[in-house]
This record gives sequence, C-alpha cells and structure tokens, in this order.
Amino acid sequence: MTAMKQRPSFPAKMDAGAHPIAAKPRAVVPVAVARGHGMDSAAVRHNMVQKIAAQGVRDPLVLQAMGTVERHRFVDSALVNQAYEDTSLPIGLGQTISKPGVVSRMLELLRQGALGQSGKLGRVLEIGTGCGYQAAVLSLLADEVYSIERLRGLHDKARENLRTMRLHNLHLLFGDGMVGYAKGAPYAAIIAAAGGEAVPQAWIDQLAVGGRLVAPVATGHGAAGSQSLMVLDKTAQGIRHTVLEAVLFVPLKSGVA
Ligand code: SAH
Repeated sequence: MTAMKQRPSFPAKMDAGAHPIAAKPRAVVPVAVARGHGMDSAAVRHNMVQKIAAQGVRDPLVLQAMGTVERHRFVDSALVNQAYEDTSLPIGLGQTISKPGVVSRMLELLRQGALGQSGKLGRVLEIGTGCGYQAAVLSLLADEVYSIERLRGLHDKARENLRTMRLHNLHLLFGDGMVGYAKGAPYAAIIAAAGGEAVPQAWIDQLAVGGRLVAPVATGHGAAGSQSLMVLDKTAQGIRHTVLEAVLFVPLKSGVA
C-alpha cells in the first residue's frame, strides 16, 4: 500500500476533473465503488437482487422493491460496506436487520396469499419495525403499512432513517406488537420480524378473512429450540397453517422498553 501524504489542497490537475481511478485504466474497480462510500449506486442493489432471485424468489414486484430501497441507509456507518450482502446485521439494542433473502422470501409469501384487487397488498401490519428497512420495502408493495416496535430507541431510529423517504402510507407505532394494533384491523397481511412460541391470538383475530400471516415460530423445545417460517391463511372455512424452512429471528417479547 502506498503511503498517502497529507496535502493542503488537491493538485490543480485533479481540480480540473481528472480522477485518480481514471489514471489507472487496468485497475478493476466496480463502478459503484468509485463514488463516495460506493453504496449510492443502483448497481450494488441490482447485484443483491440477482442473488435473491438465484435463491428462488421470483415475484417481480418484490425484486423491484428490494432493488429500490437503499438498505445502506438503515445500517450503522461502520457496516455500510456489508449492507448489500445477504446477511443480518446488528442495528443496536441487541436486535438485527433481517437478511435480504429472508425479507424477500417472506414478502413473496405474503403476496402469494393476500393480494388485493389493485395488485398490491391491502393494509399490512408489521410486528418489529427495527431499523425500518422491511417497513420501507413493504410500503412499496402495500396500500397501507402499520409497523409496530416495542423498543423506543429503535422506533425513534426507524423514524429518523425513514424521514427523508416520505413514505406516506407507512405508519410507525410504538407499542407491544403481541397485541397487534386493533385500530388498523382487519389486515390483509401480517408479518412478524421476531419469533415467539406461538402466533398470538390477537394477530389471528386482526387478520381479515382471505388474509395471510407470515411469521417465524418456535418448532423445537428447550435449548435445542429452533424456529421455522409459518404461513397462516385465514379462510371462511377456518385457519390453515403451513410450516416451511428453518429461520433465525430475534425473540418476540412482550411489553415495551
Ligand atoms: N424488520 C426489521 C427487523 C428488526 S428485528 C428491520 O428491517 O430492521 C425484530 C424487531 O422486533 C426488534 O426490533 C424487536 O425489538 C422487535 N420486537 C420484538 N418483540 C416485539 C413486540 N412484541 N412488539 C413489537 N416489536 C417487537
């Protein structure tokens, strides 16, 4: 690595528009990395979307929404260079932003089961706003989104992260999502970003007939406990559950803090 000397100002030739990268045509520098911290380009998101599609997510609107929301705006500046990797990342207070692959899988499942006439999801309840990333993606796919968070610090952080995005159909709520949010019910879709022992009855009550809920739930017991993704459909004939692949989410907790 070449040592960089501190200069009082840039040399005149750089002021004239020459770029240090342009001087080394053989250097392999992805276009996106050439600007700022490199995350401000659609190319990095496109790359992430291709990886998600390779995992089997097919829904074009989900892929489009994942390609639109800038995930790097929702993570700590020290983690920005990992923002478009398919990994969960810490967001403070012991919580994590979910993996993009899992977010898009869950959104695809919701859309497969609860699509409104408009081609969008109708009213959606999200339990676990966290940093607000999934809420932002959801707001592009739904008519209205109610997103609830039990940790004041994260509720405030999400509000700040989302402020400049002006998503008028997204409503951030501070409270215990275990009891749902009755004022917005019935919901065409409910999605949980935290996993409990079972699906709270309040969520089932607040789901519309014809609606779908997607949530991680415990499928093992004790120390060997594991979680799986559960799809619950509320039909005129009753409730239908389907348990899908294993997942790993932070725990669903009651009360606020
Ligand atoms: N969708 C989020 C993921 C956050 S992790 C994102 O994109 O960042 C899950 C979140 O669920 C955590 O912030 C946790 O505090 C929250 N949570 C857990 N139990 C909850 C409850 N009963 N009500 C509301 N939020 C809850």
